[in-house]
Amino acid sequence: MTRKLRNLSARDQFGRDWLMENTWCDHCNVANLGIDKPCEYEDDGHVFIERICRGCGNLVKS
Ligand SMILES: [Zn+2]
Repeated sequence: MTRKLRNLSARDQFGRDWLMENTWCDHCNVANLGIDKPCEYEDDGHVFIERICRGCGNLVKS
């Protein structure tokens, strides 16, 4: 496992706002419910964002 955390705050304000506002939940199948606790990490050269859906409280990855 090569997963390593990235610093989400290294993104600019626009990037963070975009992440918070343009969301999709695989559990709810609904867009833009809002998210909590976004967490960015890198695994095997790919960047993923994990966050908690405000609609259902489940962890969502992309
Ligand atoms: Zn959800």
